Amino acid sequence: MSEHAAGSTQQAERGARTLRNFIAGSWVDAAGTETLDDVNPATGEVSALVPLSGEADVDAAARAAREAFPAWRSTAPQKRARAVMALRAALWANQDEIARLVTEDMGKTLADAKGEVLRGIESAEAACGIPHLLKGENLEGVASGVDVELVRQPVGVVGAITPFNFPAMIPLWFLPYAIACGNTFILKPSERDPRPSELIFELISGIDELPPGVCNLVHGAREAVNGLLDHPEVDAISFVGQASTARYIAERSAATGKRCQALGGAKNSLVVMPDAELETAVPAIMSSSFGAAGQRCLAGSVAVVVGDSARQDEVVSALREAAQELGVGPGDAEGVEVCPLVGPEARERVVGALERAAEAGAEVVLDGREATDGGPGGTLLGPTIVEARDPESEIAREELFGPLLAVVRAGDLDEALEFVNGSRYGNAGSIFTSSGEAARRYRYDVQAGMLGVNVGVAAPVAWFPFSGWKDSIDGDLHANGNDAVDFYTRKKVVTSRW
Ligand code: NAD
Repeated sequence: MSEHAAGSTQQAERGARTLRNFIAGSWVDAAGTETLDDVNPATGEVSALVPLSGEADVDAAARAAREAFPAWRSTAPQKRARAVMALRAALWANQDEIARLVTEDMGKTLADAKGEVLRGIESAEAACGIPHLLKGENLEGVASGVDVELVRQPVGVVGAITPFNFPAMIPLWFLPYAIACGNTFILKPSERDPRPSELIFELISGIDELPPGVCNLVHGAREAVNGLLDHPEVDAISFVGQASTARYIAERSAATGKRCQALGGAKNSLVVMPDAELETAVPAIMSSSFGAAGQRCLAGSVAVVVGDSARQDEVVSALREAAQELGVGPGDAEGVEVCPLVGPEARERVVGALERAAEAGAEVVLDGREATDGGPGGTLLGPTIVEARDPESEIAREELFGPLLAVVRAGDLDEALEFVNGSRYGNAGSIFTSSGEAARRYRYDVQAGMLGVNVGVAAPVAWFPFSGWKDSIDGDLHANGNDAVDFYTRKKVVTSRW
């Protein structure tokens, strides 16, 4: 029996337990009894039952967070930083276990999961600098004897609603910065893979520097989200997920007067110039388009191949040959590069788009169904490459969130940029080129917030904002970096005469 199968059998023997919420420093059952299955995408087995918390659970969390706020707010910034340092140390010591749960719950490869956890730890590390980051501004003598100072104060109670695709990293984009700034916090993780969050909160429960009520965890889905959006004690909402959900969250937050940052979906293009070195570009595209089975908001899902038709053919062949070599299988197996999708319905969604594209005349360069029948969870799909003859078609324009790379041909950089900027999304994109001039033009003209030059996944490190544009965000302030400090604080300007 493989190590993976042995682990799953033990899970089954233990029986699926119902997760609990963490409120006011204690693990508590949700008020209702309705649950969803937390399914291991690789095996189809149920790892845990996720309680569908409702208004009463959110209310308990919001009241605990509100009660903890005054004391936490008045805790010195350097002491709050020390609490985040303690969290960082606990995360560091348990990173392999968190990564294992990410692989089991979400499906991505263990190497990818370890990278995700490290990125989350980096957000905690960045938030440890909070005494410096919170410092205000002042201007002396704006009138006779009059000075002006700007101070930053926490917003209050912050709710975070997070997606399935980075179940450890994205909660950690928000929690460390929010509490370091002096806010108290409620996390509603994705109902599809909440166990990494559960472990993070187990670590939090052992940190003496974090008083009860500062960090709270409420499991659930829509009802829990709506509870947070409508609760009068919740002051701000951080959200990451699909563009349609982001818009809903932003609108409902506005209706209830909450500050909101809502990061949405993406459809990222990778421009391959005629002078790109294919030995470096092609592996980078493989990892961008097919890593995590294409379930990253930074995934390159369209290759815009620039040049004459001979060069375009050469690039498409190189992409097909490299994609055929990628290992497809469960995330905890050796040699796997393309992991399962999060659920069978996600696979069906991608296959549906592939079939519609083929019917409409697109050329299927590589059909991922030939690599696998879906596996035990019905979630595996091999790398798929489709030439979108119509650059406005579904596969070229809609987020599919799977291992499907659309190819669009362009005669020159102008044509490529016209396609890239025609997207409703503006999350990320990359150019592969040996020309500084082309790279500069791309950087200057592309309407997207996170760009790579000869880099396939241009993920900003935690000291920079995660900065999508257009329909990839509702709100102005992004996650991480100085934006996080701006989002989690309110500014007060004091004009004094003595
Ligand atoms: P999702 O929108 O389905 O879910 C995200 C969260 O919203 C979950 O916690 C879920 O419970 C909640 N939710 C979903 N539908 C809801 C509704 N109708 N009412 C209230 N709450 C609701 O997103 P997902 O499928 O979990 O995540 C994948 C999406 O996230 C992709 O579109 C991806 O591009 C995007 N994403 C964006 C970024 C970014 O930085 N822009 C990063 C990661 C993921």
